[in-house]
Amino acid sequence: MKNPKKTTFRPKTKVFPKTTIEGQYILMNREAFILWLSDLDLKRPIKYIQNHHTWNPRYVDFNDNHFDKLKGMKRSHLRRGFSDIAQNLTTFPDGLIAVCRPLKTVPAGIKGKNTGGICIEHLGNFDAGGDTMTDEHRKTIIWLNAVLCKKFKLEINRNTIIYHHWFAGKSCPGTNFFGGNSKLNAEANFYPLIRKL
Ligand SMILES: [Zn+2]
Repeated sequence: MKNPKKTTFRPKTKVFPKTTIEGQYILMNREAFILWLSDLDLKRPIKYIQNHHTWNPRYVDFNDNHFDKLKGMKRSHLRRGFSDIAQNLTTFPDGLIAVCRPLKTVPAGIKGKNTGGICIEHLGNFDAGGDTMTDEHRKTIIWLNAVLCKKFKLEINRNTIIYHHWFAGKSCPGTNFFGGNSKLNAEANFYPLIRKL
């Protein structure tokens, strides 16, 4: 009898942590971000996770040029009189996440909700008729809100995961962001996805 053929048991493809740093920006995949976040010891208390879309730049402006887009946003924010790029975190269509303004620094995202806030900008235009969110981007946006809530021990509700639209005359993060930008839309379409993780 022939020797039975040996079979090598291979695990499913594993995604390894990947980090690229340029200047103040730390660009990571989800696997790297979770390690980075677990090491983060933030002294300021966190009460809100702000969700925004960049609107401009939008998907057509993105071509694997994460750092160019971040630097461009910073230039535009400095021109508006901010001390740094406004947001703490940026998510990209390919699912990567960049640390921008250091998390220890209060962001400039939503007036009245910056102290205690972490500001996330999702690159794209998620108004109706705008960009169609990629699967990777969608996965990262849901996942990022979930891991931040876990890290800072936040319940998942309209007091903690907030949209810019609720506090300003803007559509941000977009009239088509997870089915709409209202509080009811967030409760019906966005929070359940975050709670599932
Ligand atoms: Zn906004």
